[in-house]
Amino acid sequence: MLRKNRLFTPGPTPILPAAQTAMASFAMHHRTAEFRDLFSRVLADLREFIGTKNDVLVLSSSGTGAMEGSVSNLTSPGDKVLVLSAGKFGERWRDLAQAFGCAVEMVTAPYGETFSLDEVRRKLTPGVRAVFVQATESSTGARHDVEGIARLVRAMGDDTLLIVDAITGLGTTHFDVDGWGIDVIIGGSQKALMIPPGLAYCAISERAWKRMETTSSPRYYFDFRKERKAAAKGEAAFTPATSLFAALAAALDFVRDMGNDDIAAGREALVNNAELAAEMTRAGAQALGMKLFAASSPAAALTAIQSPPGIDSGAMVKEFRESFAAVVANGQGEMRGKLFRIAHLGYYDYLDTIGILAALEHVLASVTGKAVEYGAAVRAAQEVYARQMSLRTSVSV
Ligand SMILES: *Cc1c(COP(=O)(O)O)cnc(C)c1O
Repeated sequence: MLRKNRLFTPGPTPILPAAQTAMASFAMHHRTAEFRDLFSRVLADLREFIGTKNDVLVLSSSGTGAMEGSVSNLTSPGDKVLVLSAGKFGERWRDLAQAFGCAVEMVTAPYGETFSLDEVRRKLTPGVRAVFVQATESSTGARHDVEGIARLVRAMGDDTLLIVDAITGLGTTHFDVDGWGIDVIIGGSQKALMIPPGLAYCAISERAWKRMETTSSPRYYFDFRKERKAAAKGEAAFTPATSLFAALAAALDFVRDMGNDDIAAGREALVNNAELAAEMTRAGAQALGMKLFAASSPAAALTAIQSPPGIDSGAMVKEFRESFAAVVANGQGEMRGKLFRIAHLGYYDYLDTIGILAALEHVLASVTGKAVEYGAAVRAAQEVYARQMSLRTSVSV
């Protein structure tokens, strides 16, 4: 059959058509009134999308740029920091903090699992200057309890900052950023916001801005205070990825439309969309006898599915691509070959979700050479969908 190329990877994700069009016709210079309008509108819309009153910055970099900036702006060499790590992105926090000379304490959980809040509480001793965590660990498909972690950090008072990599969490997870007291929350353009890679964004609390007055780690391109000053005038400190701002504005308009002219409501709808797609996918995979990698605390951003015993997940990834032009992600690092990941964040709908599960049935049959009950995954997903729709109808009546 004809094959349409489709991304099911947890970044980059499929691009919103309206964002693509906005980029294609874009020709503004970044030091003009026209661009300052666009820039300021994007920042205001992002604040609503994140759900915060804090100042928001947009950086021209991939998500890791905002992670690095959080470390370099908020710490000084020798600072004691606590990294909560249960996957490759948690390890990135550790590596970044070490690169800037922090004294790194760790709370770890095995890949596919999440932390015990008791252990977090034990390690959260006075003198810990900052806590770094992922909202959703994209390498394993696990969700971490940001609300519970935030409660523990806030109980330490204003001397401990909480920095959350929500690069796949924003748009897939419900947060109360200001209510929970998250000091920095980070997102990336190529995830739930449905545009290409190249922009990182973050919301920064007053507590964190204050910390920056005393920290001494080296920083230059990712100097948050410099960016804040420029942003107040509708500009970026350096040349921003201008056409991506046009794409971002279009994506935020799309979210606003999803919420009937309300970005916060649109964000909730986007989160619910990811949650439903994830639940359908989990049910579908399990109906085929497959095991989830992060079964105890699954994220809505993506689902990591274990490869059947004796099968390299690379063979499944390859078969998805060759038979259906569907790009799913292999495991990262030590998880390579053991699992594959299907994304739900951003621009995915019912047909995408049903389609990838139908493809999974064929991929499984062809890679294992064993009989698969066709329709089993699709049926399980249909039941999840039907149940959800009837729930929604009964709620709205
Ligand atoms: C994608 C992602 C990042 C950032 O990766 P970049 O390649 O720098 O954009 C960081 N953390 C998580 C959890 C991610 O999913």
